Amino acid sequence: MLHLMVHSVYSDRDIFLRELVANGADACEKLRTLALQDGSLLSDDADLGVTLTCDPKGKTLTVSDNGVGMSHDDLVEALGTIARSGTRAFLEQLGEKTDGSRLIGQFGVGFYSAFMVAQRVDVLTRKAGSDEGWLWTSDGQGAYSIEPTDAAPRRGTKVVLHLAEGSEDYAEPYTVERIIREHGSAVPVPVDLVAPKAAEDGDAKDGEATETRRLADGAAIWTKPKSEITPEDYKSFYQAVATQFDDPALTIHYRAEGRHEYAVLAFVPSTPPMALFDPLRKGRMKLYVRRMFISDELEILPGYLRFVSGVVDSSDLPLNLSRETIQESPILTAIRKGVTNRILSELDKLSDKEPETFAAVWKAFGPVLKEGLYEDYERRDALFGIARFATSKHPEGGRSLKAYVAELRKNQTDIWYLVGDDAKRLEASPHLEGFKARGIEVLLLSDPVDAFWVQNALGFDGKPFKSVTQGAADISAVPLAEGETEADQKDVSAGVATLLAFVKQELAEDVSDVRASSRLAESAACLVAGEHGPDRGLERLLAAHGKLSEATKPVLELNPRHALVSRLAERLSEGGDKEIVQDAAHLLLDQARAAEGQPPADAAAFARRLTRLMQSAIG
Ligand code: ADP
Ligand code: MG
Repeated sequence: MLHLMVHSVYSDRDIFLRELVANGADACEKLRTLALQDGSLLSDDADLGVTLTCDPKGKTLTVSDNGVGMSHDDLVEALGTIARSGTRAFLEQLGEKTDGSRLIGQFGVGFYSAFMVAQRVDVLTRKAGSDEGWLWTSDGQGAYSIEPTDAAPRRGTKVVLHLAEGSEDYAEPYTVERIIREHGSAVPVPVDLVAPKAAEDGDAKDGEATETRRLADGAAIWTKPKSEITPEDYKSFYQAVATQFDDPALTIHYRAEGRHEYAVLAFVPSTPPMALFDPLRKGRMKLYVRRMFISDELEILPGYLRFVSGVVDSSDLPLNLSRETIQESPILTAIRKGVTNRILSELDKLSDKEPETFAAVWKAFGPVLKEGLYEDYERRDALFGIARFATSKHPEGGRSLKAYVAELRKNQTDIWYLVGDDAKRLEASPHLEGFKARGIEVLLLSDPVDAFWVQNALGFDGKPFKSVTQGAADISAVPLAEGETEADQKDVSAGVATLLAFVKQELAEDVSDVRASSRLAESAACLVAGEHGPDRGLERLLAAHGKLSEATKPVLELNPRHALVSRLAERLSEGGDKEIVQDAAHLLLDQARAAEGQPPADAAAFARRLTRLMQSAIG
């Protein structure tokens, strides 16, 4: 059973060592806390730490600490649980909880990961302040034994792994050293390695002599001055804390002083972490209090910064508070605010100093950051500052609002946008034609979150956001771009007016109005939303999620300057056969729907009409 468990919960066998070192470090930290009340517990052995002893000949690896140690009852309680509770209870839980990390926390599977590499584990231990030493032994098959021993350390615990076949490598110093480098940089106590001295000048001193080397100094990396930390140190800590394999795109390391004191070491990854769009929007920051790990479940950053991983270490929060109490503490609120602002300002700086790195960050996390435009009212302007967009003039993206506003056209008072789910289709949208003719830039918003924030946003730099698919879109005050000819906006000929009325009647079931368009140049027709309804893009999104109580009818706009439209108007005024104008009305609607990525209103009727039209064209 244990066999099954240790092999299914852990896939990377190396991490058994991290678990055992973490336990040793925990034991030291516990003793340190107890010694605050009773200094005699430390006696003459106050340098707390973890020691790893490699014995390649004996095929053992020993993890010892001079921490708090365990009594007989502690051993039964702490290490007997799984073996004792038996397979049934364990299996039941395993069925419920497939999440391995949860399991580890609940069952103390951490220690049992030793059986991934050991065929037998001996735990020799003596509790601080006690005379009794104990030996716990198990082969990991479910049973264990405990007996008194004189071989226990003076204080603390010694875990001896008798390595299984195929795992002898873990008795080699270089293997152990590699694992500690990869996983051990956050250990809060020093870690030493004791290994046989390398036999020099052919002198085969039979394995007696050993040497001790320090692998980790126990100073939590975030407490060190920046000057003492190499980029490699940062990277390996990042990879351990974030469980990522890439390089951090941005490393933020600072100490806040003043009303609240805390250290922050946070990383923005360069590739998106797993489950980034999980609806739980779980964060990736850990809280420490004076170097003691408290929780990784607290909401330290807002949801839209959930891709940031790292550590916040507070000097002010009391230890031993429940998670709920900490979450509501004003100190955490202040920390949350400070760290959030700092991360946003660092992103802003990055966009300035390293535009390429920033572009990659925005590409990976822009859709997440934009959630903040919707939900973090306070920091909306800061977020607008770093947000980058694709626009009709820069379809490749990377356009800031600041740049947009700096190049407004004469008399342009709004920031125009177009929402949809397909960037390419937006670029080709007929709605943009009139804007292009006047040289007006339009933001092309194709992330799902765009439709939401843009509805609520008041504006940027005093310029309101306006949808090109909503309302009348009067842009006639903006002069035409060079080379474009003025179309007669105001005076729609009597013939066209009649056509508009005719089409409106014909399409009464599908559209609320039919009018002449000032936003079209080359296309004959497009659909827009009424002045007060949701934008066309948002409406489609809501409809797709079943969130639309009743669909509003769009407005069909026809381009009075288009040859087809004027020809249809003539045809209508000539009287006679109206059928062809009727067909055209429906086909224009279907064509406008197609431009938005929608199917024809009535596919069968569409096919009939198109066939009729083709037949008459071919003659
Ligand atoms: P966890 O560390 O998550 O509690 P583990 O399986 O790693 O789970 O350890 C189970 C328990 O065994 C610990 O909570 C601790 O009480 C005890 N323990 C393990 N290793 C040591 C150690 N080196 N010194 C003292 N106690 C230990
Ligand atoms: Mg543990």
